Order: sequence, then structure tokens, then C-alpha cells
Amino acid sequence: MNEQSGLSIQRVSKRFGDCVAVADVSVDLPAGQQLVLLGPSGCGKTTLLRMVAGLEVPDAGVISIGGELVSEPGRAVPPERRRVGMVFQDWALFPHMSVARNVAYGLNRARVRAGRAQQALELVHMDHLADRSPHELSAGQAQRVALARAIAPQPRLLLFDEPFSSLDAELRVSLRSEVAALMRDVQMTAVFVTHDQEEAFVLGDQVAVMNEGRVIQVGTPAQIYSEPATGWVASFVGETNLLAAEVNGRVATTVLGDLPLRSGDVGPRVVLARPEHISLTKAGPGSPGTVTAIEFYGHDTSYRVEVAETPVVVRVPAGPAHRVGDQVAVTYNGPDAVTFAATTGRTGTP
Ligand code: ATP
Repeated sequence: MNEQSGLSIQRVSKRFGDCVAVADVSVDLPAGQQLVLLGPSGCGKTTLLRMVAGLEVPDAGVISIGGELVSEPGRAVPPERRRVGMVFQDWALFPHMSVARNVAYGLNRARVRAGRAQQALELVHMDHLADRSPHELSAGQAQRVALARAIAPQPRLLLFDEPFSSLDAELRVSLRSEVAALMRDVQMTAVFVTHDQEEAFVLGDQVAVMNEGRVIQVGTPAQIYSEPATGWVASFVGETNLLAAEVNGRVATTVLGDLPLRSGDVGPRVVLARPEHISLTKAGPGSPGTVTAIEFYGHDTSYRVEVAETPVVVRVPAGPAHRVGDQVAVTYNGPDAVTFAATTGRTGTP
């Protein structure tokens, strides 16, 4: 049986004058899943989200929500008829209304009678504070109420534009976990926009990595991290060592010795070695190197090591065991590695 479609974006493009904001983007999301649009500032994430909401009209392509075509060339269903909810950065509540009235706002009487506002407040565990005013809530509680207000009309799709960016770091981390758990609990189809890789991985069943108006790769967080499509994606979603390599079959010869590869190839390539997949010992069979810098983060330690004139970053889940200037042996002990074209990654382009 086919999975029910939550959102389908097919070959959608949008220009503003000379600026191509979104270029030929296609993404499919099954109902009940969460998609994150991840990319640097100006890559077109918000424009894509606004086209899904109906706030911008695409120049080309089609968009369907819950199996219903809402945008095609020459025809666009207006935003209020798409049954889409939007949650913005400030999650603003009406200050003069109680929590309950905030959540009921915009619901027709039949829905209020049916207890939709109450149910939504229960879902976010805020029903006990229904009579409070917004100024009597903590920032986290206020956001939960705003989420209840977005859920109450039972939209087919919820859209979040950088929903946590105005919060301090601690609240941001706790709320994003809470929202991720809640969205999964209620199996709400949702799209989040963020430029924060960690946030994208926590929130997304699927992550679409965007750059310069294009989707470079769509996949689960684990796929994006361990099988990035390009050196640029690899660097955008984590720390990398992109090592020059001579590849022969499924072996890449690098400054760290011979690395096993996921797939075979021949000739010069760039190979991805994540810092946590490299280990350091005082002596032993690894490639000889010199420690040039150390950063201790508490939960782990990052070393910069010069190996045959190539700087290599190594992350070890322990406190510092070496000092700057120490001679060390460096060994790759990660999974079969991926490679990219020899120009990718070095230039930083996708
Ligand atoms: P950010 O994370 O900074 O919000 P973004 O990835 O959401 O960025 P968009 O806001 O979608 O990016 O913008 C994509 C490109 O389109 C940018 O170059 C932006 O300047 C341009 N753009 C967006 N909206 C308009 C507009 N209404 N008129 C002209 N150009 C626009």
C-alpha cells in the first residue's frame, strides 16, 4: 500500500527579479512525518515555505497538500483554504486574552463546542493554565500555548519558520525536543525551516539540505550525515576532514593510510573522514603527526594534528591526553568512507 502523501512539491521555482530564490525543487513527505528545510541564509527556505502556505505564487511547478493539488501554473488555492497552520519566530499570543481564548481564537462555534481548544491544550499539557494571561506564563509555556493554537483547527500541515531562533540557548534545546516529541505523538505533518544543523536533526524525519535555491539532498538525518551527497553537504552538517585521496577500487590512499570505501572508484578523489572516526595514540601503527592545537569541550576534546603537511581534526570522547607539540600516531577507524569529486569540498561549492 502506498503511504498517504502529506506534502508533495514538484519542480517548483520562484524568482524575484534577477534573483532565483527557489530553483526546480522537488520534495515528497508522507503524511504524519516532519520535514526540515535546512540551509544557509538566503538559500530559499522561507520562500519555499511561503509557497506551500500560499503566501507566494510559484513561477513553475505544482504543490499538493494531503493529496489535494493547491498550486499549479495558473491556479493557486488561497492560503485560508489550504488548511495549513503557520507558527512564526515570535509565537506571539494576544496579550489581553486568556490562554483558553487565545487557543479558541479563529475556531468557529461548532469547533469550540466540540472542545477543540481544550483538546489542543491537553495535548501540550497546558490545560491546567487555561485561565492564565499570557504575561503570567514562562517563555516555554507561552510557546506551548501558541502551538496549541496552531493545532486546534486541525490543519493538514503545520509550517514553522525558524521557530526557536528568538529563544536563549537552553530554552531552545528543551523546546525543540518537546516540539519534536509532540509532533511525532500527534503524527502531525509538519515542515520546519532552520539554518541550524542540530535542530534539523532533532526535528526532522526527513531533512532537505538547500543551497542557492536548490535542494542538494533529501534524506533521514543519519543518511545526510553518513552519506552526504557532496563535500559541501558534509561540511554543512558537521565537522569534516576532506582528504585528498588516490582511489583504487574500494580503497582510498590518504595521509591517514588506506581507508575502506563504501563504493568503488578509480583515480583522484576527496574522501570524507569525520573527526570522531579518527583516533590518536602516543605511538603505534598509525600515520605520524604533530599536535598543533587542542580544544577541551568537557564531553570531548578536539585536536588539530599536522599529518604530512595536512591539517587533520580529531575528536575524542575524553579529556586531553596529549599536549601541543606532542608526536602522535593517527588512525582512521570509522565506517567505510564516502568520496567526492576531487574539486568538491575543497572549494566549498556543492
Ligand atoms: P534566511 O534564513 O536568511 O531567512 P532563506 O533561506 O529563508 O534565508 P529566502 O528568504 O527564501 O531565504 O530568500 C531567498 C532569496 O530570495 C534571497 O536572495 C532573498 O534576498 C530573495 N528574496 C526573498 N524574498 C524576496 C522578495 N520578496 N523580493 C525580492 N527578493 C526576495
